[in-house]
Amino acid sequence: MALQLYNTLTRAKEVFVPVDAAHVRIYCCGPTVYSYAHIGNGRTFTAFDLLARVMKHLYPKVTYARNITDVDDKIMDRAKALGQSIETVTETTTAQFHADMDALNLLRPDVEPRATGHIDAMIAMIGRLIASGHAYAAEGHVLFNVPSMPDYGRLSRRSVDEMIAGARVEVAPYKQSPADFILWKPSADDQPGWDSPWGRGRPGWHIECSAMTAAHLGPVFDVHGGGLDLIFPHHENEIAQSRCAHGTQVMANYWVHAGFLTMSGDKMSKSLGNIFTVAELLDEVPGEALRLALLAAHYRQPLDFSKDGLRQAKATLDRWYGVLRAAQGETGEVPAAKVPDEVLAALEDDLNTPLAFSLLHELANRFHKETEAAARQAVAADFKAAAGLMGLLTQDPEAWFRWVPKGAQGLDEAAIAAAIQARKDARAAKNFAEADRIRKELLEQGVVLEDGPQGTTWKRT
Ligand SMILES: [Zn+2]
Repeated sequence: MALQLYNTLTRAKEVFVPVDAAHVRIYCCGPTVYSYAHIGNGRTFTAFDLLARVMKHLYPKVTYARNITDVDDKIMDRAKALGQSIETVTETTTAQFHADMDALNLLRPDVEPRATGHIDAMIAMIGRLIASGHAYAAEGHVLFNVPSMPDYGRLSRRSVDEMIAGARVEVAPYKQSPADFILWKPSADDQPGWDSPWGRGRPGWHIECSAMTAAHLGPVFDVHGGGLDLIFPHHENEIAQSRCAHGTQVMANYWVHAGFLTMSGDKMSKSLGNIFTVAELLDEVPGEALRLALLAAHYRQPLDFSKDGLRQAKATLDRWYGVLRAAQGETGEVPAAKVPDEVLAALEDDLNTPLAFSLLHELANRFHKETEAAARQAVAADFKAAAGLMGLLTQDPEAWFRWVPKGAQGLDEAAIAAAIQARKDARAAKNFAEADRIRKELLEQGVVLEDGPQGTTWKRT
C-alpha cells in the first residue's frame, strides 16, 4: 500500500507522490512563543510528528521543518505585561515548548527556523512581490494586492466577498482593497523593528512562513500544514505570497490540517476557562499517556479531550508496558522486528491511528494467549516495532512503572529495593507472615509487587 493523505486543497484523500522521492520535504507552522502550549497545539504537533515518523519510515531522506514565530504583537504584549524583555519571553517560552514536546516524545524537527533569523529573506520576498505588481507600499506598510491573484482563495474556497465579510479582515485607510493583507508594518521606537526600504518595521505573520519554507524546503515542497484554524487566513495568504513571489502553480502539493480539540464537548477557550496547557497535564500523567490520548482520535476528526480519557490512556500504556516487561523477563531483551504490514497499512491510510491502536490491542492479547516461548517473543517483537513507529513504548518498562505524579511522595526506589530484599529473606526463612506483611505495606504506599521467573518486579499504582 502507498501512503495516502487527505488534501485540504482538493478535499480528497490522495496517494502521496513526492516532488522528489529521494528527499521528501514537509512543513508544519510552529508556535508563536509568547505563552505555554495548550493541548490543542499539542495535538497538532503530535499529529505532524507521527506523519514525519511514517514518512521517515517510508522514504530515505525527509526534512521536517517546524518554525518558531518569535516576532509577533502577542509577544510584545506579553513582554509588556510581564515587564520582561522580548528576548526573555521568547527564550523562556521556546525552552518550555521544547520541554513539553520532548515529554510528548516528539522528534525534534530536522530544521527549526526562527522568524527573526529570516528578516532579510522576508524583505527580499516583499521586494519581489512589489516589483511584480502583487504588493504595494502605503504609509510605511506593505500590503499584498489580493485582486492581483485571480485564484486567491482556492485553499479555503472562500470568495473575496466572503473574506471581506469575515471578521478577521481589518479595514484600514491605506488598503486598496479590504481583502489586502499586511506583509510589513511600521514599528514604533519601543517596538522590535528592522530597517527596510519602507522604513523601520517588522513583518506580518504570513510572510514569515513563506520566507522560511522557501529558505529551507524550496519554492515547491510536499506537505504543508498545521491546525484547521490556520486554513484561513494564514495558509491562504502564505500560498498567495509564495506562488506570486516564485511564479509557481502551488506552494505545497498536499495541505494537511489537524482537527479541533474540544473539552467535554465544548470548544477550548479562555472565556470558558477550559484550556489545559501541556505543561500542567504533564504534572498529572506521563507524557506518553498524553501522546496516546492526543492520537486516540483520527487526526482530522474532532478530539473530545477529558481527564477520563487521559486516565484510560495511562491504563492502556500500563497494560502495553506490561507486555514488554513480561517479554523482557523471559529473555532479557525484546528483539527488533519489522513493523507488521497491517499496522503500517493503517498508518499509510491517512494516519488511521484508531485502527493502528486496535491492532496493538490485538497483538497484546495474542501475547498473553500465546504459551510457546518463541512465538511469544515474536509477537512481542512485532508489538514493540508497531508501537515504536508511533513513538510509543520507547522507554524501558521499569522506568514507565516508576513514574510518579509531580508533588506525590512516592516511596523512594532504594526503600522499595530494601523492602523487596527483606521480603525475599523472610520467604527464604519460611516466615511467610512477615513476607506478606511487607507486600501489604508496600501496597499501602502505592507499590505493587509482581513475582516472575526472573525475580520480583514492582510498579506504582
Ligand atoms: Zn505558517
